[in-house]
Amino acid sequence: MNTDTLAHALARRITLEGPLTVSAFMAEALGHPRHGYYMKQDPFGTAGDFTTAPEISQMFGELIGLWCADAWQRLGMPETVHLIELGPGRGTLMADALRAASVLPALRAAVRVHLVETSPVLRERQRVALTPLLAQPLWHNSLDDIPPGPSLIIANEFFDALPIRQAQRTVQGWSERLVDLDPDSGEDAPRFRFVLERGGGPGRTLVPESLRDSPVDSIIEQSPASQAVARLLGARLAAQGGAALIIDYGYDGGPVVGDTLQALRKHAFAPVLESPGDADITAHVDFAALAAAARAGGAQSHGPVTQGELLTRLGVVQRAQALKRSATPKQAVDIDAALERLIGAQAMGTLFKGLALTSPGFGPPAGFEP
Ligand code: SAH
Repeated sequence: MNTDTLAHALARRITLEGPLTVSAFMAEALGHPRHGYYMKQDPFGTAGDFTTAPEISQMFGELIGLWCADAWQRLGMPETVHLIELGPGRGTLMADALRAASVLPALRAAVRVHLVETSPVLRERQRVALTPLLAQPLWHNSLDDIPPGPSLIIANEFFDALPIRQAQRTVQGWSERLVDLDPDSGEDAPRFRFVLERGGGPGRTLVPESLRDSPVDSIIEQSPASQAVARLLGARLAAQGGAALIIDYGYDGGPVVGDTLQALRKHAFAPVLESPGDADITAHVDFAALAAAARAGGAQSHGPVTQGELLTRLGVVQRAQALKRSATPKQAVDIDAALERLIGAQAMGTLFKGLALTSPGFGPPAGFEP
């Protein structure tokens, strides 16, 4: 029997320490050094578990590259600028952005590329994708490790992978939602189930005042990890200058009641607790919370605007037309399909949103003008 699995490791931990927070479960499922979902495989593409915007079309990364070029000009074209990507996946977005940014040779000479990535498998993919374009990208485990200086920062589908905590309303009040061993599962094949923290522990503190009176069984979420990163981004931009573009799926307007934790395996939803380490686990991003944390760090926030609106303002329709001029009929069909996936309201256009953070005085960056 193979007991060297993440399920066994989590079962041993729960036996020793008691039930885990949703946040601890999620962090282990995604980031366990050997068994974590992102640590052991490349999950992208049609053969993988999901597809992201940069993998759908080169247009996405190209427009972000032009957004960076515009932001660099607004910063007064500093001679050195850190181009930082959080969670770069296969490196596709960065490669497309760098190709587009080479319209400004002085910018290409100014950028130092930093990739914040914890997965060795994906670091290798990024190295392969970027080698033709770059002498040497630098990898970091955390934003904290990047040297000071003005920066342009990109994060696409990064924050949805950061752990969340959940609280649930019971007749007695709010309790934190925890992950425990299912007592019906054997030692050979541990299974997990949700339980509630007993007796007025920290669960209550997760709930904003406005939602305290929600009906019994309501679930609310908070991502302290996301807020910590956003605050750090805000502090960096305020102190060193620069702009950040965060794109992800999620909601605006403050915390709401709802359980958005989901697991994806081979392009289909799977039960969240079923196969830790073998499914992608994400939660929707609370954009208002990210913006507030970044402002608390000293930056200004702009938006969010929907991905459809943002890409349209950045010129995605014109870019698609330009690409179609030199395309075969089959390629033209693919370009139209990709455009629809990126900006269509039923596809990624509305659920996905862009939030910009800037140093004070920068003003609204491209795509975020009122
Ligand atoms: N931006 C890419 C990939 C999104 S998937 C795209 O759009 O295709 C999430 C990425 O974040 C992966 O590269 C994953 O390895 C990385 N990641 C997840 N949690 C992380 C963490 N805590 N620190 C650094 N990188 C992380």
